[in-house]
Amino acid sequence: MSAFRKTSIIFGIVFTASAIAAACGYFSWFWLFIPAAIYSLFLFFGSKNICSQFYMQVKCFSENKARIQLSFDDGPHPTITPQILRILKKYNQKALFFCIGKNIEKYPETAKQIVQEGHKIGNHSYSHAYTFDFFSVKKVQKELQKTNEIIEKITGTECTVFRPPYGVTNPNIAKAVKNLNMQAVGWSIRSLDTLGDKESIKNRIKKAKPGDIILFHDTKENTPEILEDFLRLKND
Ligand SMILES: [Zn+2]
Repeated sequence: MSAFRKTSIIFGIVFTASAIAAACGYFSWFWLFIPAAIYSLFLFFGSKNICSQFYMQVKCFSENKARIQLSFDDGPHPTITPQILRILKKYNQKALFFCIGKNIEKYPETAKQIVQEGHKIGNHSYSHAYTFDFFSVKKVQKELQKTNEIIEKITGTECTVFRPPYGVTNPNIAKAVKNLNMQAVGWSIRSLDTLGDKESIKNRIKKAKPGDIILFHDTKENTPEILEDFLRLKND
């Protein structure tokens, strides 16, 4: 049973008992807002923190405890992804690329190159829509299936891993991932390379230890330089 379901049952009982007590005149109905507010906070933080394991099991550390797992979201990108691939080859590193289905359709050669160079492609939804977190189970499932089919058709590899767009999880995403028998993958270190300040990004990722999963984006111009600095330091 997920933490979400357990929490809902507990708060359901607390809320019902409080409502009965309020109806019997033990206290004002106004106080019912306290369990409702606490429950909403649980749902909110469970959604926002990908590694909370609140709605679903998400892998946030690498199974291989001997090395750092590099991961790149939102590609493939026609110029930045090849730069990253060159750097990974130079330092003999393998990575996980969580690609967006519509980008794979746009840049199939780059997607093929990722696989040909020994890296793995994961599913990062088809549209990466801003409204993805509000999609029904059926719509999430359709996006994931469509992207899996595109990955298989273009790269010839089967895709079993999914990273939720924006790192947000909810009951609908959890159900769709379960129905498709896929594994959700998060991260233990977020480089925040989307925010741009190179020095603070470098400081954040240099704390990485074997077993960590680092999140980068192969759509940001600064990412290749940051990655190369990181790998050079690790290899020294
Ligand atoms: Zn993304």
